[in-house]
Amino acid sequence: SKSVYTFGGLRQAQAERGESDPRAKDKTITGGKGANLAEMAEIGLPVPPGFTITTEECVSYLQHGADFSDELRAEVASALAHIETAVGKKFGDASDPLLVSVRSGARVSMPGMMDTVLNLGLNDKTVEGLAATSGDMRFAWDSYRRFIQMYSDVVLGLDHGLFEEALEIAKEDRGYFADTEMNAADWQELVAEFKVIAEGELGHPFPQDVNEQLWGAIRAVFDSWDADRAKVYRRLNNIPGDWGTAVNVQAMVFGNMGETSATGVAFTRDPATGESHYYGEWLVNAQGEDVVAGIRTPQYLTKRGREAARAELPSMEEAMPEAYAELARVFDLLEKHYKDMQDIEFTVQQGKLWMLQTRSGKRTAKAALKMAVDMVGEGLIDEVTAIKRVDPMALDQLLHPTLDPDAPRDVLTSALPASPGAANGKIALDSDLAERWANEGDKVILVRVETSPEDIHGMHAAKGILTARGGMTSHAAVVARGMGRPCVSGASAVSIDMGARTLRIGSREMKEGDVITLDGASGEVMAGEVPMIEPELAGDFGVLMEWADKYRRMRVRTNAETPADCRMARQFGAEGIGLCRTEHMFFDADRILAVREMILADDEAGRRKALAKLLPEQRSDFVEIFQAMAGLPCTIRLLDPPLHEFLPHRDEEFAELADAVGVGVDHLKRRAGELHEFNPMLGHRGCRLGITFPEIYEMQARAIFEAACEVTSQGGDPVVPEVMIPLVATRKELEILRALVDRVAAEVFAEKGATLDYMVGTMIELPRAALMAGEIAHEAKFFSFGTNDLTQTALGVSRDDAGRFLAPYVDKGIYERDPFVSLDVDGVGQLVSLAAERGRETLPDLKLGICGEHGGDPASIQFCEEVGLDYVSASPYRVPIARLAAAQAAL
Ligand code: PEP
Ligand code: MG
Repeated sequence: SKSVYTFGGLRQAQAERGESDPRAKDKTITGGKGANLAEMAEIGLPVPPGFTITTEECVSYLQHGADFSDELRAEVASALAHIETAVGKKFGDASDPLLVSVRSGARVSMPGMMDTVLNLGLNDKTVEGLAATSGDMRFAWDSYRRFIQMYSDVVLGLDHGLFEEALEIAKEDRGYFADTEMNAADWQELVAEFKVIAEGELGHPFPQDVNEQLWGAIRAVFDSWDADRAKVYRRLNNIPGDWGTAVNVQAMVFGNMGETSATGVAFTRDPATGESHYYGEWLVNAQGEDVVAGIRTPQYLTKRGREAARAELPSMEEAMPEAYAELARVFDLLEKHYKDMQDIEFTVQQGKLWMLQTRSGKRTAKAALKMAVDMVGEGLIDEVTAIKRVDPMALDQLLHPTLDPDAPRDVLTSALPASPGAANGKIALDSDLAERWANEGDKVILVRVETSPEDIHGMHAAKGILTARGGMTSHAAVVARGMGRPCVSGASAVSIDMGARTLRIGSREMKEGDVITLDGASGEVMAGEVPMIEPELAGDFGVLMEWADKYRRMRVRTNAETPADCRMARQFGAEGIGLCRTEHMFFDADRILAVREMILADDEAGRRKALAKLLPEQRSDFVEIFQAMAGLPCTIRLLDPPLHEFLPHRDEEFAELADAVGVGVDHLKRRAGELHEFNPMLGHRGCRLGITFPEIYEMQARAIFEAACEVTSQGGDPVVPEVMIPLVATRKELEILRALVDRVAAEVFAEKGATLDYMVGTMIELPRAALMAGEIAHEAKFFSFGTNDLTQTALGVSRDDAGRFLAPYVDKGIYERDPFVSLDVDGVGQLVSLAAERGRETLPDLKLGICGEHGGDPASIQFCEEVGLDYVSASPYRVPIARLAAAQAAL
């Protein structure tokens, strides 16, 4: 099949006659940008003619590394001829040259790759032709110097600082301030200097052959797929390394041909709030990347936007009403066609509008929700589409706190609210430091003049981002919105001294490490830490969640062990507790002494004495939890971690314990030493504790049943405790411990003269348990997959140490994603589905759930749906994510 697809021009006429090839509009083949250009051309929008080289060519180029094939060269030559015919100019023609842009375009938009080369096809001869045909010497030489600058930077890999410096010196020598003061002769002289610089760096002249220029750019696009920045981005966004990028070559249109020309970026709806009005930025007499680069401050697209911002420079609506009206018509067509909010790039060349790109626009979670719900209301999409359209992980942005509006704010400055949400942290002035501090557990705000793709790792590590330059569509703004990081951009009151690592914000001197707070919704920057409040869960969020609940099959529970977490999770829609880790209650200050006394006791009698102190504490924990979860199922897991986790460490702790228990410190230390294990995660933990120290599980079971009886006797919905035994490997273990729980339940019911429904079940978190699930199911009413331990034991990778080596594993594609975050479906997944199957063979109505971290991960939830689990359980903040992901999985 073909490797090059043309669009626009004649191709458009062919398409209108129904002669189009579906591969041309398939993003996997022609990339997002290429596919949409083809589609726009087909629906009759003004698209400069061009062609796309497929992603398949990129993949094969990167695999074989060889030169381009003759077939490809021939296809490109004929596609170039297509552009030449459509435009009526020839590539490399000294009298009337065709100029092209070259851009990358992967299946999904992906910062980090080679971006754009404009004005390709200029050389010492064609520049004269451009001057003659445009009648504008200055424009021609300015275009040529831009080309050399861009090509040298992105294709030839030369330091762009060299060229910028030369430009600065040229202006200084002439006493100019702005680039606009440079005249034709000035640019011409600068071009000569640029060529000298390039030759000095390259060791050969700047390429004059236009075909060499073109193939150089194509090669650079392909190579950029494997640039480090692109790899980092792919890893953070789970984009496979084998997709490759397409190359788009397109006839140039010029936004810098005087006052009737312009360039801009726009959204068909507001990408920050989701409100249904056009939103965008434009610049008169400017070329392509000027808007995005944040070099000149852009003007507002609409009158409404300009007035709201009280900006002075006229909007496009006011300054170019005709081109604007055409743009508005295009917006409507695009939204109706794609049935989604579009993010577009356009150029106006001497009054005529040209579309350079459209794609479904990145949006904040808030905007995604609002648009999904609004579009259902407008009849543009249905509920199912709305559910599918919101990325579950994006909800995270909405579920986190915002600044308390009543708290005092020491506002340092205010700038563009580029990405919503609030954040506070220590100022870090570069991305490496931001990452380092974040790894050390600090909250960090990354403060930069402006960000570039080289800052992706720092932006990811930071809680929020502040930039001194750039508009709402600058790199920082776009990337921050995509990542869900609050961002304030274009804060011109921020000036940074990288040498001294200090900065001034407004009138205040600050230094790296000082704490500031950002409000990405208002654009305010504040000194110190401003208190936060909980998010609003009604409105569009509530509507979408209701739809999700309607379409999902699996239930969603929560992992919670405090009444506060339980209440929070219920607000988020949790339908029960899937995992209450009782050991968390053992660490509280008021009981750790008794826990330690129990662990270090010499014999059973000693342990029982200490456990008697713990019983009322645990009982009251459970009473509160059962109250908070009234009427919902609660899975309570008996003690799981190795006992040594509770041991005293410091001398004072030993002394305090010795005092309380009345034994010597030395004795206690010796007992603690005896508890040492070489490999505690595979040691004396989980149900092994219950087997060897049954009195611990007896106490816990008693606390659970006494609490359940107490809460049930208060009226209201009866509590249904589900007692869960951890780390079971054999049927016999469960048989013994189940008998223990049943016995305690019977005792409590006899004492209380009451009875209750309850269940005993087990976690499946060891490979042997998964394999023997058919046997184990004889003793269990439910299984809950503990995929944290199951991953650890199946992979033989310690969950506590994996952080040190897993990232390179993911980079190298050994695991596609961190298996502790997203279930290793191929491997560990087999254990899950096999256990589910064998368990249900024994007990058809065996209840199945998952309570590892994977229960809150959308891809893993998809897998749980396929296996037919009854529920997933996730931490409270992940509950809405799980509800939406479960609905998506079911659809
Ligand atoms: C698990 O192992 O998946 C689990 C939920 O238990 P924990 O994380 O407490 O070991
Ligand atoms: Mg576990």
